[in-house]
Amino acid sequence: THSIVALVGRPNVGKSTLFNRITRSRKALVDPTPGVTRDRHYEKVVWNDKLFMLVDTGGIEDASGDTMGGHIRNQALAAIEEADIILFVLDGREGVTPADKEVANLLRRTDKTIFYVINKIDGPEQETEQMAQFYELGVNELWAVSAEHKYGFHTLMDALDESL
Ligand code: GDP
Ligand code: MG
Repeated sequence: THSIVALVGRPNVGKSTLFNRITRSRKALVDPTPGVTRDRHYEKVVWNDKLFMLVDTGGIEDASGDTMGGHIRNQALAAIEEADIILFVLDGREGVTPADKEVANLLRRTDKTIFYVINKIDGPEQETEQMAQFYELGVNELWAVSAEHKYGFHTLMDALDESL
């Protein structure tokens, strides 16, 4: 019985890219079209001698690309139910959207461990320019990462490892 770590967030923020980065696979379909991920992916991950189950919750996304619909809510609620640790992924280039705030409000109700992951921060310049706007979420700790280019990735994974 290992911990379940779930990736949560609206379409196109980079959940599947992060899933593939963590699992060192290309199993989750990455596509620039929001909502294209249909399947729900589970994969066992061994990280620093610890085992956990990683879930890409893309399957609950709506193919219509509607980011405000009930599916986002259901996705977040399912993750709260199922997961031990939640990686809430946001798009570091787009800032905090209304759909992000909706998810953030749902996540505030759980006392499970949540990592607020600001993805698409591809280097230190973006970190300087983009991170400040995310403090409106009212969260103490934000993790600036690039799923694609690995910036900040090991810092996040070390922290995740410690909370397993
Ligand atoms: P999902 O819908 O949340 O699963 O998002 P995807 O993983 O499918 O990624 C959506 C788009 O964002 C794709 O075009 C990715 O190549 C792009 N993307 C993902 N991670 C990064 C990143 O760290 N930096 C940049 N610049 N683009 C990224
Ligand atoms: Mg996806």
